[in-house]
Amino acid sequence: MNRSLPSRAAGLTLLALVLAARSSFAAEVPKAPEQPPFEVVKPFATDNSWYGRFGVTNCSWIDTGDGVFVIDTGATALDAKNLRAEVARTTKNKPIRWIAMTHLHADSNDGFSSFLPTDATIFVNARATGALAGAIAKGSGKAPTVVGISDRVALVAGKRAFEIGIPSGNAHTAYDLYVFDTSTRTVYAGDLVTTDRCPMLSDPDSDLKGWIGILERLDSLGAQALVPSRGNPTPAASQEIEKTRRYLKSMLVFLTEKKKQNAPEARVTGELAGEKLSDYCPRELSAINALSVYRRILNDGTTVPGSAAASPASKK
Ligand SMILES: [Zn+2]
Repeated sequence: MNRSLPSRAAGLTLLALVLAARSSFAAEVPKAPEQPPFEVVKPFATDNSWYGRFGVTNCSWIDTGDGVFVIDTGATALDAKNLRAEVARTTKNKPIRWIAMTHLHADSNDGFSSFLPTDATIFVNARATGALAGAIAKGSGKAPTVVGISDRVALVAGKRAFEIGIPSGNAHTAYDLYVFDTSTRTVYAGDLVTTDRCPMLSDPDSDLKGWIGILERLDSLGAQALVPSRGNPTPAASQEIEKTRRYLKSMLVFLTEKKKQNAPEARVTGELAGEKLSDYCPRELSAINALSVYRRILNDGTTVPGSAAASPASKK
């Protein structure tokens, strides 16, 4: 297998993606709902940009003039089908020429297989390209071009210009990516910023320092709008980024301090109640976040990725 294969959890997500493409697509085609569980709107007064909430996850698309740039492909075959139908409806059947995946969690991109075959250009975090190429290679027909981003790139797509970038390491996951539309100054942040919702640190590769670092990059873009994968788009991009950053920084300080004290897990969750952390996130979710990271965090605040923590040498 390719050395760039992702960690177990995200790998399973990709595996699910492959399996959905190969074997169970037909079984997953919707049995009933003629009232599809999605809504489609233009997030702001921006021209030719839409987002749709398919199930619980937002997917976005931009008509660049010559074709469509889709950001995230939905959680299921049904979501992807609805997404493609809405893209066709709103853009008058323009072709999908670019796809970006903000990360590989199932709720954001397990619908990808329903976009195959395609000759679109697909942007993912460079660390995900090996697994994605493997998934695509098993298909037939047209093959997409996959571009792995290892820092950031400027893309001119049709009449629009974008910046596509990634964190320097792990953040929400090991494979995060953002898209910044320079025309509308809108940042598509995936799960790096989830407006009015608790950031989730339960991925085995979540990393507080890396996440805080990429938020600083997002803030420096000077975005005038933010579209998250969860929650509502907002024109208050900077404030939302700062809210997430404050929560993560507080969590980092709290957990590092507890690690230095070698505090038992029960004390970590017990003392969370007295922290400001619980003002932003429900206490139960903060406890899940805290424990997930506490089991992997070191005294200096860095975290051991889940895949490494689960290696045979450290298993017991
Ligand atoms: Zn996620």
